[in-house]
Amino acid sequence: MFIFDAHVDTLWRLLESGARLDDAQGHVNLANLRGPGAQFFAAFVDPKYYHGLAMHRTMEMIDLFWHLVDTYPEVLSFAGSAAEIKQVSSQGRLACLLAIEGGEALEGSLAALGVYYRLGVRLITLTWNHRNALAAGQWEGPEGGGLSKFGRDVVEEMNRLGMLVDVSHLNEPSFWDVLAVSRDPVLASHSNAKALCDHPRNLTDEQIRAVADRGGVIGVNFCPAFLRTDCRATVEHVVEQIAYLINVGGEDCAALGSDFDGITEVPTGMEHYGRLRDLVGLLEQQGLRTSVIEKVLGTNLLRLCSEVLD
Ligand SMILES: [Zn+2]
Repeated sequence: MFIFDAHVDTLWRLLESGARLDDAQGHVNLANLRGPGAQFFAAFVDPKYYHGLAMHRTMEMIDLFWHLVDTYPEVLSFAGSAAEIKQVSSQGRLACLLAIEGGEALEGSLAALGVYYRLGVRLITLTWNHRNALAAGQWEGPEGGGLSKFGRDVVEEMNRLGMLVDVSHLNEPSFWDVLAVSRDPVLASHSNAKALCDHPRNLTDEQIRAVADRGGVIGVNFCPAFLRTDCRATVEHVVEQIAYLINVGGEDCAALGSDFDGITEVPTGMEHYGRLRDLVGLLEQQGLRTSVIEKVLGTNLLRLCSEVLD
């Protein structure tokens, strides 16, 4: 089955640790990265680089991304559109898409956005947890405010270029501002339902419906703290989140956004990337039809890419 995950932090893990993709480390490595499928690799701008080194660090991560797809062409290939995802995945390989997590990477420049697009970036998570020049992350709370003028310009330019606007990590005012500004459907690449786990990183039912009503997609995050308030999560809680998103937002909105290599703890039964395929059987046990399972595990994100990127 075609499997498409919206968020891993493998570029960050490799750069911070100095490990190689073919080391048997982390949640995602060469031994378990297999097609057919697609994966967004986030270039996560760690807060320690915010002051003066955000673009520098983003360049290092983009360079690493291209190094990886060049080094392992039998397994990985770059994709910048839904058509390219389909082509790579039909060869049994993994289509690799490039994302930036944290608008700090732009350093206030719309020109940088255009250059990042040309370097292969197709998704930007507008903030991490803090306020930046674009918007406010969830740590700021509602007092953090919404989209800035520059943030609105960035969303409009992303719509024009054909890039996915990612609303994960935003505080509520910024979230609603993005939905008012964006002409394209948006992605919440790695966020869960707050009704099942009351965490500031998760989405209210109203937010889930708003993303879904506009044709957007929500990737379920495997971080135990976003699955269970006591953090004692198993793969059943991942399945529960998927079922809940389908109930509230419909079968076209639910997807995967594992956050592998960005999270320190993992749910029991979902220890690494190779386990993603176990979800097929687990969702079948929930009584979901094969056509719905295919949507959740891959084709919802593919459809969003074809609407926004192509
Ligand atoms: Zn994140």
